[in-house]
Amino acid sequence: MDLELSQDEAALADLAATIARREIAPAAPAAWAAGRCPVEILRRMGEAGLLGLLVPEEWGGSGATTVGFVAAMEQIGRADQSVAAAWQAHSTIGSLPLLRFGTDDQRDRWLRPLAEGRVLGAFGLTEPEAGSDASAIRTRAARADGGWIINGRKMFISNAGTSMSFGVTLLARLDDDEETGRAQYANFVVEKGTAGFTLGPKLNGIGWKGLDTRELAFDDVWVPDGNLLGSPGRGLSQFLSVLAVGRITVAALSVSLAAAMLEMSTAYARQRRQFGRPLIENQAIAFKLADMATELEAARLLTYRAAALRDAGQPFEHAAAMAKLKASRTAVDAAREAVQIHGGYGYMLESDVARFYCDAKILEIGEGTSEIQQLVIARGLG
Ligand SMILES: Cc1cc2nc3c(=O)[nH]c(=O)nc-3n(C[C@H](O)[C@H](O)[C@H](O)COP(=O)(O)OP(=O)(O)OC[C@H]3O[C@@H](n4cnc5c(N)ncnc54)[C@H](O)[C@@H]3O)c2cc1C
Repeated sequence: MDLELSQDEAALADLAATIARREIAPAAPAAWAAGRCPVEILRRMGEAGLLGLLVPEEWGGSGATTVGFVAAMEQIGRADQSVAAAWQAHSTIGSLPLLRFGTDDQRDRWLRPLAEGRVLGAFGLTEPEAGSDASAIRTRAARADGGWIINGRKMFISNAGTSMSFGVTLLARLDDDEETGRAQYANFVVEKGTAGFTLGPKLNGIGWKGLDTRELAFDDVWVPDGNLLGSPGRGLSQFLSVLAVGRITVAALSVSLAAAMLEMSTAYARQRRQFGRPLIENQAIAFKLADMATELEAARLLTYRAAALRDAGQPFEHAAAMAKLKASRTAVDAAREAVQIHGGYGYMLESDVARFYCDAKILEIGEGTSEIQQLVIARGLG
């Protein structure tokens, strides 16, 4: 097993570290506190080529490996989780359906601006009545006037409502198959400004306060045939195949959070003195740090393994679910222990530790909850 990054992957991680230090860390916490999506940072990341990492150069991206993306995420996520969350959603569910299932015309029209970092990508699956059970969606698309009419609601959709957003790719239900009676689904692109497509207000979560997440409404939205992505009838499996990549990047986001918690807690435990000595000289505190470090390393290895499997063209869905399950649990545990080690100072919202604590919980919910990862893993066991 080769656990070393290639030269290109290491260079990408260095670039991400520089941007994280110079551009993200100084500005993102204020945007978080204000509940504002810092699009200026995302634009800057686009100029640096980071918004097209998983897209080949032919389509305006930089053709990085998944391992390279994970290494870059370790740097970006340590600086700010909301920016990193917007970046990962853009890079996976926001862009990959166009790369995987789009025609060359569709890639030229929508994927290239996404990969070049000029616009932000979003995907709408979740609905008020359908979250974990994607097959239960009610948004419908029906043939009309040489195109399609879409009606429905999407819930908790990230990246669709910013000044940098181009619109959304969504999953809709079609008429059931006439022969088999089975439900059929398809993916469509709906651009911002299309008549009948409206955005709700930005939602207010416990964390990820810099991420733009909204409810979307589609009332008699007409789109031409050219907005249908891939095969009608295969929309659900198309989306689920892309979601598995998203799980690797959310695992990486979780690893970055756990790493930040370990770093900050170790530094604080060395510096903070109680009872005449640094906190870290108490075995109870040192053992917390030892456990955090061990869990972090386990989560990191699972995440890089899932990424390496994808890069090698091997099945990675099972490994991605394991990585996401383990890494998100590790992140939540690390954030809880970090606040404990920081005491009252870690509880105050002005502290980085408190911000990461608030950001951690969603990692066990988004891109498939922990229970859904367990379902995927259990199915893989037969
Ligand atoms: C900040 C944020 C950003 C998001 N961004 C996007 C986005 O960009 N695009 C998008 O489409 N969605 C997005 N989501 C939605 C997210 O993917 C869903 O919230 C998630 O999939 C869970 O769906 P749900 O909230 O409807 O919960 P439910 O599916 O109602 O689940 C509720 C609870 O029941 C459990 N549960 C459900 N079914 C089972 C089962 N069979 N066995 C055991 N337990 C079960 C779940 O694990 C969970 O604990 C976002 C959500 C948030 C909060």
